[in-house]
Amino acid sequence: MKEYLTTERMDPNKRLVVERTKDFGEIYDVFNVADASTQSDRCIQCGDPFCLNKCPLHNYIPQWLKSIAEKDLEFAFKLSNEPSPFPEVMGRICPHDRLCEGDCTLNDGHGAITIGSIETHITEAGFKAGYKPDFPGITTDKKVAIIGSGPAGLSAATYLLRSGIAVTMYESADRAGGLLTYGIPGFKLDKKIVQRRVSLLEDAGLKLVLNTTVGKDITFEELADTHDAMFIGVGATKGKSACLAGEKATNVYAAMGYLTAIQKKNFKLSYDKKYDFKDLNVVVIGGGDTAMDCVRTAKREGAKSVTCLYRRDEKNMPGSKKEYKNSVEEGVDFTFLASPKEIVLDDNGQAIAVEAVKTNLGIKGDDGRQKMEEVKGSEFRVNADVVIMSLGFDPVVPSFLAENGIETNSWGGIVINEETYETTTTGIYAGGDCFRGADLVVTAALDGREAARSISKSLLK
Ligand SMILES: Cc1cc2nc3c(=O)[nH]c(=O)nc-3n(C[C@H](O)[C@H](O)[C@H](O)COP(=O)(O)OP(=O)(O)OC[C@H]3O[C@@H](n4cnc5c(N)ncnc54)[C@H](O)[C@@H]3O)c2cc1C
Ligand code: SF4
Repeated sequence: MKEYLTTERMDPNKRLVVERTKDFGEIYDVFNVADASTQSDRCIQCGDPFCLNKCPLHNYIPQWLKSIAEKDLEFAFKLSNEPSPFPEVMGRICPHDRLCEGDCTLNDGHGAITIGSIETHITEAGFKAGYKPDFPGITTDKKVAIIGSGPAGLSAATYLLRSGIAVTMYESADRAGGLLTYGIPGFKLDKKIVQRRVSLLEDAGLKLVLNTTVGKDITFEELADTHDAMFIGVGATKGKSACLAGEKATNVYAAMGYLTAIQKKNFKLSYDKKYDFKDLNVVVIGGGDTAMDCVRTAKREGAKSVTCLYRRDEKNMPGSKKEYKNSVEEGVDFTFLASPKEIVLDDNGQAIAVEAVKTNLGIKGDDGRQKMEEVKGSEFRVNADVVIMSLGFDPVVPSFLAENGIETNSWGGIVINEETYETTTTGIYAGGDCFRGADLVVTAALDGREAARSISKSLLK
């Protein structure tokens, strides 16, 4: 260990831009055994590891780095798969620079340990070697219903099944995974990786009921009557509006509609052809992870030009720096310090441009972010054949919540007891984006895990 002075930080190989923009395959390779071991060997095994504390799941990072450095894959696989329901997913798509790697002691000039990539390697190599996470089978007479199969629901199912509790999961879509499947594009997360975990859970006893919306195809009350507890993980995917004139034009689209349609196309399912943007000028409004996914998807779909308009500067973008850099490499044009004022329409009511005004960033406000001031007389236009709005998400609030005494807060988030994850109705638990607002896969996974532990404690006492 402690080889950081002689070994530099190395990221896994990235596919060349000319190749990777032709398809939706993942752009990073997975580390081979030698590279994973050499990179793990850089770890200094801090007494008080900041990486572990910054990881929402408190993964045993220094311990599995040591095991990989010593080429003990089996133990690393066990350590990694215990607190995390799907480490190979988080290893790929966590914003590492803001979480574990950001707080790595070596991130002071030496270069943080490549924690995420090593985490991915452990599970990929472990699966290849035939290792599997342990499940005991259904060993109790307790039954839990889960609404929503996103990372929160999948994580809750993982830890309930590990306690021997029977789980039935209800999902509106035609396949499981939530935003892992129909939000995050394949170039960040191959859909086979998600399906592999779902299959493992089905092998462990999960009953998956697809194409079924609770509140429409089956009532919440029916589920409550036939189960000992319930977990709600319905996410937050209602696109926020910018309230711009012209936003209702038929060629102005919400980010989720676009990303879901293109994923359906990639699954070779039927999809709405209005989302074919080949040879069109695409303007994306927003600067978060979803905006980066939209611009990179449009590039792969053969758009003539792709411009991202963001009202602050590069430094203040909310999304992952890594994904911004990948977008730049892939040929996306960024116009920073540009606040959209109006979608300009032609005589037929079709969007033809976005009118924006330049902004300056001033002193920091109460939220810690620099205040934005518009520069008078600096209006300009960016031509657009289609516009994608990517300004964040609010929860969809199903009517069954209020009808069953489950309280929501002022922005629609489900109110829970943050220690037990129980909602204001006994026996009904919730977590993920429907409680936090749009956040991260790793925090949804944490909520699912903690809710499951709380449910198990209550049912098996
Ligand atoms: C485009 C995009 C890219 C992202 N990229 C990243 C990233 O790189 N890294 C990261 O950490 N996070 C990323 N995120 C955020 C992350 O995906 C979410 O925080 C996470 O998926 C939330 O998990 P969840 O289980 O709470 O909800 P979701 O993943 O939204 O899953 C909710 C599920 O519930 C189902 N559902 C809803 N209502 C019902 C009902 N009534 N009956 C049955 N089923 C129902 C939905 O169909 C859905 O499948 C991204 C988000 C988006 C939109
Ligand atoms: S789950 Fe995310 S934050 Fe935690 S170790 Fe893995 S990549 Fe880092």
